[in-house]
Amino acid sequence: MPKRAFITGIAGQDGSYLAELLLGKGYQVHGLIARSSHNPRERLAHLAAAETSGQLQLHYGDLTDSSSLFRILTLADPDELYNLGAQSHVAISFEIPEYTANIVGLGTVRLLEWMRASKKPMRFFQASSAEMFGAAPAEVPQRETTPVFPTSPYACAKTFAHFMTINYRENYQLFACTGIMFNHESPRRAENFVTRKIARGVAEILAGTRRELRLGNLAAEKDWGYAQDFVEAMWLSLQQDKPDDYVIATGESHAVQEFVDEAFRLAGLQASDYVVIDSQFFRPTDTRRLVGDPGKAREKLGWQPRTSFRALVRLMVEADCARLGVKLPMV
Ligand code: NAP
Ligand code: GDP
Repeated sequence: MPKRAFITGIAGQDGSYLAELLLGKGYQVHGLIARSSHNPRERLAHLAAAETSGQLQLHYGDLTDSSSLFRILTLADPDELYNLGAQSHVAISFEIPEYTANIVGLGTVRLLEWMRASKKPMRFFQASSAEMFGAAPAEVPQRETTPVFPTSPYACAKTFAHFMTINYRENYQLFACTGIMFNHESPRRAENFVTRKIARGVAEILAGTRRELRLGNLAAEKDWGYAQDFVEAMWLSLQQDKPDDYVIATGESHAVQEFVDEAFRLAGLQASDYVVIDSQFFRPTDTRRLVGDPGKAREKLGWQPRTSFRALVRLMVEADCARLGVKLPMV
């Protein structure tokens, strides 16, 4: 009998890579897609054969709607439950804090409550965020034990979900893990995240359909990895004897400016000729430097990222150039 997995946020960046990984391992995969999504199958189109065969089953539902959630979860009867569904954009969370808290914070509690009530032994993964460490993290690099001080509605909601997951593990002995995920990107990243915006912007400039790229804070330093590498850590965390918390990161930080420079260099262009700083893309507060210590994940999970920062920039710019049918001069 194949193992069954349930993924909330399956239509998102990580959900699509995780679905691929689990299908490849022979899992029966169920996924929750939000009815409000305008094109929920876009990132899953290449998995159509698995959907036709029934190995992949997609269900409409919503993390804010317990009755639909409980019905679908009961039907799917998963061995492993991965909670990736979220309003995942930090800047947007300042505009819609209540909505963000409902999906990210309470959505997680709804899943944990279902798991507690169902009494079936199963394993839960919560996608926590490095944003929990806040604008000025208490230590560098950040570890599983670094004190949190979230500085955005998104980060506050993720912090609540993170500690509720740990509480349910401690109070009710659930097999519940958290992955404190640092930024991870890919050609499937939504276009309003900075890496994808830069990759696509460079491709459009090369294609001649854009003349400038408007960005915000270029000084912020992030620990950027590749989403395909990161979903492997999610799966590994649920294959251990005991549930635990893991920082999932590369251990290197790079400024947004470095991403910009490398992307334009690959295109044979000078970034300063095209980049315009626009105040609308600044946030009320921003994290200055996030960098994770992935030592525990390396030691306990045997996990390490395979894709370097430069390789990530290159694969993202190449993918957007390929989409537009333009050639990247410096590759
Ligand atoms: P993503 O691409 O935004 O995927 C999130 C998915 O959740 C989307 O498919 C979204 O659908 C869905 N969703 C939104 N509202 C929902 C609702 N009410 N009910 C059910 N589903 C809903 O994010 P990601 O990059 O794959 O990240 C996966 C998870 O890791 C998220 O929880 C994110 O917060 C967390 N995380 C990500 C990073 C990162 O760097 N990528 C870092 C730390 C933590 P729509 O797109 O249609 O709204
Ligand atoms: P986040 O780390 O999950 O918030 O991912 P983002 O890609 O949205 O932002 C990464 C960093 O890029 C943040 O420090 C932003 O302030 C910075 N940034 C600079 N310009 C932009 C922009 O135009 N859009 C976005 N989304 N972020 C920007």
